[in-house]
Amino acid sequence: MYLFKRKEELERHLTTARHAGKRIGFVPTMGALHRGHISLINAAKENSDLVVCSIFVNPTQFNDPKDFEKYPVTIDQDVLQLTEAGCDVLFLPSVQEMYPDGLTAKMQYDFGTLETVLEGAARPGHFQGVGQIVHQLLNLVQPDKLFMGQKDLQQCLIINRLLKIIDSHVELVICPTQRENDGLAMSSRNMRLNTTERVNALRLYQALSYIKHHYKKEGFKEMKEKAINELKTSGFEVDYVELISILEDGSVIFPETAATTPLYAVVAAKEVGSGVRLIDNIML
Ligand code: AMP
Repeated sequence: MYLFKRKEELERHLTTARHAGKRIGFVPTMGALHRGHISLINAAKENSDLVVCSIFVNPTQFNDPKDFEKYPVTIDQDVLQLTEAGCDVLFLPSVQEMYPDGLTAKMQYDFGTLETVLEGAARPGHFQGVGQIVHQLLNLVQPDKLFMGQKDLQQCLIINRLLKIIDSHVELVICPTQRENDGLAMSSRNMRLNTTERVNALRLYQALSYIKHHYKKEGFKEMKEKAINELKTSGFEVDYVELISILEDGSVIFPETAATTPLYAVVAAKEVGSGVRLIDNIML
């Protein structure tokens, strides 16, 4: 695996590959890699000739400075995992390399209402930061396909929108959420949970599973209230539990009955003991 820290080195390598007719698959990450990330590398390998992974903990997408400071960094293990998975290129830039002119945004993306609901409402500025870094990375890597996880469903919708805004022909491939055996969605932030908190974290998946099994019989409002109350009782600060649907134009609506499809249950809550904020979603 090639490891590049500088944009020019990466661009030079990829230009040569592109001229040789290689189709490039790209997996952007923030590192602290787990099997969820590796499933994206595997999907990229199956669907491209050359796989590029980036690891960059992007400061502009963290609305909470403590969350940024505490974000896990496990570069040595990440390199091992990527090598084992057969990733071809790792791009590992510094903050200075990606933001030589400072962190102030040069442009604002119009993500519409996608930016004001759910994660957008709970994390002001987050999606502008995501747009800023993914836009830059896409310009550098110029992939044929971009691989992202359904775990971050709203982020996928934002990137879908970004691709339209920047008139890009990159194909976004959304890969299924990888879970631990008990159902907990894999996440780099899980590394910050101790044994008790890790057990407690499973409550998110349990809330989603409850909704999956009852949404055809129970009222949406009652189910949401029940899930929120149970999470609160178990030591969570709940940002939202919602049932959503995605329209063809990629926007999100909040239906009140099971008649609308496709339906997803989505949740975001902070485990108070650890201070770790977790998100998850499930298709109903
Ligand atoms: P992150 O490093 O958290 O920014 O995630 C990088 C990419 O991995 C994003 O596209 C995520 O949606 C995806 N990802 C994170 N967790 C999982 C998971 N459990 N299963 C599948 N993909 C995931």
